Amino acid sequence: MAFAALASLNAGGRKFRSAMAALGLLTSSAVLVHLSGGTIEMHFHFFVIVGVLTLYEDWLPFLLAIGYVVVHHGLIGSLSPETVFHHPAGQAHPWTWAGIHAGFVLAAAAAYVVSWRLTEQARAQVAESSLRLAESEERFRGAFENAPIGVALVGLDGGFVRVNGSLCRMLGRSEDELLATTFETITHPDDLVRSREAHRQLLAGDIGTLRLEKRYVRPDGDAFWAQLSASTVYDDPGRPLYWVTHVEDIDQRRSAEAHLREAERKYRLLVEQVPSVVYTAEYGESGRWYYVSPRIESMLGFTPEKWLADPDLWYERMVPEDRERAMADDARSRTTGEPLRSEYRLRSRDGRVVWVRDEAEAVLDDEGNPVFHHGILVDITLQKEAQNSVERLAVALEGRVIERTAELEEANQELREAKEVAERANRAKSEFLSRMSHELRTPLNAILGFGQLLETSTLSPDDDESVQQILKGGRHLLDLINEVLDIARIESSKLSLSLEPVSVDDVIREVTDLVLPLAAERGIELRGPSPDPSCFLLTDRQRLKQVMLNLLANAVKYNHEGGSVTVFYHDDRPDRLSIWVTDTGPGISQEDRERLFIPFHRLGAEQRGVEGTGLGLALTKALVQAMNGSIGVESEVGRGSSFWVSLPRTEAPEPSHDHKAPSGTFAPLSIRGRTVLYIEDNPSNHTLMERLLVDRLDMRLLTAIQGRMGLDLAREHAPHLIVLDAHLPDTSGQEVLSGLRADPVTRETPVIVMSADGSPGQMRRMMTAGANAFLTKPLDVKLFLETVAEALAPRDLARDRE
Ligand code: ADP
Repeated sequence: MAFAALASLNAGGRKFRSAMAALGLLTSSAVLVHLSGGTIEMHFHFFVIVGVLTLYEDWLPFLLAIGYVVVHHGLIGSLSPETVFHHPAGQAHPWTWAGIHAGFVLAAAAAYVVSWRLTEQARAQVAESSLRLAESEERFRGAFENAPIGVALVGLDGGFVRVNGSLCRMLGRSEDELLATTFETITHPDDLVRSREAHRQLLAGDIGTLRLEKRYVRPDGDAFWAQLSASTVYDDPGRPLYWVTHVEDIDQRRSAEAHLREAERKYRLLVEQVPSVVYTAEYGESGRWYYVSPRIESMLGFTPEKWLADPDLWYERMVPEDRERAMADDARSRTTGEPLRSEYRLRSRDGRVVWVRDEAEAVLDDEGNPVFHHGILVDITLQKEAQNSVERLAVALEGRVIERTAELEEANQELREAKEVAERANRAKSEFLSRMSHELRTPLNAILGFGQLLETSTLSPDDDESVQQILKGGRHLLDLINEVLDIARIESSKLSLSLEPVSVDDVIREVTDLVLPLAAERGIELRGPSPDPSCFLLTDRQRLKQVMLNLLANAVKYNHEGGSVTVFYHDDRPDRLSIWVTDTGPGISQEDRERLFIPFHRLGAEQRGVEGTGLGLALTKALVQAMNGSIGVESEVGRGSSFWVSLPRTEAPEPSHDHKAPSGTFAPLSIRGRTVLYIEDNPSNHTLMERLLVDRLDMRLLTAIQGRMGLDLAREHAPHLIVLDAHLPDTSGQEVLSGLRADPVTRETPVIVMSADGSPGQMRRMMTAGANAFLTKPLDVKLFLETVAEALAPRDLARDRE
């Protein structure tokens, strides 16, 4: 039943089969016990079967077997003890015997269970350790194969036993190639001896682990540096089996190291050759110095080692007076982290005082606190000495400057005073010259005026000769006065020039016309320049005439009878023109040429009886220079002289439609009986005027010796003409003129102004104030009479002439 039930429960299952087998075996044991009549030996059959089932290591058959024995012995042993317990006592006490048997069975079962569990544990341990071994083997293999560096097992003969992929790649060989070779064949020949020796030492046990930097050679001959580490693997008794080696390609590392070394060498050289001490040190008077460059020795006499060994040295060598300041600078940099800038003195080992400038940058820790500083100590002793001497010099210089300034101030004061004196003197000179001119011209006016009057009268030849002498002397004196005055004006910068475009052709023609009579007199030929009507000079027309007249007159005066004078132009530069006057005279020696332009140097001309003042060339030069020009002379003694004047050129002026000035030739008009008012303070001039106008022309003459009196007379008598002197005792001629023009009676009356001052400025002022003509003293009788006639000409006739 039970079998059928079990079979139906798990037919075909493993458990079912083992349970069936166990029950079958025990049943056969029970049958054997019964068949043997319960002999003890047959009972052991049970134990054996239980033991066998134990080996099966399955609780189900084991417990079934135990249960079977217990049930069998309990049931059969008590029901039929003689078939179970062979012993007679068993029949008497079947339960006792059944109990004993059960005890045995249980004890055996317990023993079996214990042995079973132990076996199981032992087996689990074995399984676990083999698992671990496999894992470790796997790990080793993985580590070996995947190691990023080359790994190899090398036999003691040097042949490769096992190699990993990294090594193959590194050495450029396949695994098979490597396994067929030894480490020696792939070692660089230069490293072979070292390599062998190292392996020998390793093998001999002199070293535990071999470390060697050596070169390997790839099949293409390319060598590379590698770091080799090797250690020996021993067996149990301690015999060496093989080497485990690690090979790392350090080519890049070595070249990086080489670069690094090179860079480090360069920086070291740089630091060491800086002509100052470079350092790294902690702050404070006993701060540790980490580095100091070798310059410290030449600067202070201490070797870097000595300096670094003694942290107090820096403070000790500092000149005591500088310590407080230097330490304050040091502390400031340490607390603020700002760069250190300090100057102090250090005493060198041999006692010299060395001025240093200490400049350092703080190095901060993670919290930003300065921990030490990198700096530089610059020897500034020479600079300080120079500075000191400069300061000393500066002080000395300052003293001298003050002294000199005082002297200069004094000199300036003297100069100012001298200048004032000179200016006063100059003013005085000008005033004197002006006064002298007036004073000299007034009598000259009489001399020349009366002389001219006499000249026109019928005289005996002797008297005529005398009159001519008077006139000649007077004119010479007049020339002299004019030239002296001109030179004085130029020197005191009072010469007024009116620079305007002047046709050089016009000027030369006019001047040539003037000189022509004199030249003709001496049989001298005058050759004019080729006309250049487009050429205009920026100059003062009158003064240029004066200059050219002087040069031409000289060329005629100082020439041989029958000689020649040539005038020509030369373009030195596009903006200038030179006018040359060349004569065939005696020429001027080099020595004389140097004195030519000095006033009153006539170079012996006076002895030769040539008339002149000795002022012409001096004045000419001054005038040319005042007109922005230059003058020069070239001469060859015996052949003649060439004077040249160079002046700035300018553009031609716009054509002007101004009316021309009255020409000087007048139609003979009847002026008899006309009234002339002469306002003049000099009585001799009154007389002269009387002779001229009353005696000769039968005119009526009114005279006034003062300006105001003149104005009254003019209003009262309404004269036909007024002749007005510019210098009057009570008022100026200009004011009188204005008064005349303001009065309806005299507004239209012609006025001829006569002045000893013939400057263009004076003339312009008078003409602007309303004068009809301006004449200079001394009087040119002919010109005066012409001007009078012109002034009295009927308006319409005058207009016609214009
Ligand atoms: P002046 O003619 O009134 O004596 P200048 O100043 O004009 O004064 O001339 C100074 C001197 O230079 C003259 O006295 C004369 O000896 C000399 N001199 C000037 N021009 C010539 C010349 N063309 N040839 C030779 N000598 C000259």
